[in-house]
Amino acid sequence: MYNLKKIVRPNILALQAYSSARDEFTGDDATFLDANENPFGELNRYPDPYQKELKRKLSKLKSVPTENIFVGNGSDEVIDLTFRIFCEPGIDKALTFSPTYGMYDVSANINNIELQKISLDNNFQIDTNELQVYLNDAQLKLIFICSPNNPSGNLIAAKAIQFVLENFKGIVFIDEAYIDFSETESWAKALKRYPNLIVSQTFSKAYGLAAARVGTAYANQEIINLFNKVKPPYNVSQLSQAAAMKALDDTTIFESQKQIILSEKKQLIKSLEKLSVIKKIYPSDANFVLVEVADANKIYADLVQQKVVTRNRSRLIENCIRITVGSPAENKLLVEVLKNSSNCLIGRKLDRRLKREDRSFPQT
Ligand code: PMP
Repeated sequence: MYNLKKIVRPNILALQAYSSARDEFTGDDATFLDANENPFGELNRYPDPYQKELKRKLSKLKSVPTENIFVGNGSDEVIDLTFRIFCEPGIDKALTFSPTYGMYDVSANINNIELQKISLDNNFQIDTNELQVYLNDAQLKLIFICSPNNPSGNLIAAKAIQFVLENFKGIVFIDEAYIDFSETESWAKALKRYPNLIVSQTFSKAYGLAAARVGTAYANQEIINLFNKVKPPYNVSQLSQAAAMKALDDTTIFESQKQIILSEKKQLIKSLEKLSVIKKIYPSDANFVLVEVADANKIYADLVQQKVVTRNRSRLIENCIRITVGSPAENKLLVEVLKNSSNCLIGRKLDRRLKREDRSFPQT
């Protein structure tokens, strides 16, 4: 049986959260002499520690009650807080499916937590049979599922996610950083059914606010209360809250940019398919595509030389490069450079063949 109190670290359960000046008095029309702020200026007051207005807007948009929403300094903060709430350093474990987003590993290491990794199958899907043996380990507190997965780009099958939610007694963390680019509903719709579910999303991708650092988590109220207890009091700046609210007030920009990115993705894939240097293009539900090339290190270096920066993922997946869908001009430039790179490759192959043929002639 799932029992939240058994999963949370005892020191976090017992923790008396910091009570900020803004916790003790809410409202605007008072003389604020409580937080040692400067009385002058526009950004002189601490921001709302619970981002109430932003949560109200998110609640409307996502159809999730405000009590089930947490806002973090990027979703990377949500990931880190999750380790800190549930995993006892040096004792507890977490699990994920590789290849996936690198921060689960880094955050686990920072918190001195062992992160177990099960390989995704050839289609980058979860093999639930392989997972089964891990599920009864009392020290396993957290399972991270990235869907759409970074760097492969695909959604994880709903059936496998459901299996994990129903068979694991710990916390299931579904990272939906790229969900806005897919046509699938968020797992946040299933919060009532699964008290052990945390869904994270971000303003960094489809909302175009990576610099603002705003990430969200949707979960059972008991879990949200724990996030609020552990987070730094003013974890999301006033400027960032305002930027996120502005994006939610007028979603036409979000919608139009998303449509451009999605149609550019289609176009980019068509162009890439024509290039001899591209061996395989993996299906993508995100704003990037994973491609296999003959020699990833060389292609990556050729691109960098032309100041086109992609992500060389060949240490995770042999000869694979992850390409973000950019603006029409950026994508065009990428394809041009790749075209030249493949011409060079053909040129070099030709060169080598000619040299071999040369050797078969009597040397003078
Ligand atoms: N999750 C995934 C899968 C990501 O790829 C990223 C960023 N690359 C993040 C989370 C972190 O996003 P944020 O900017 O919200 O911290």
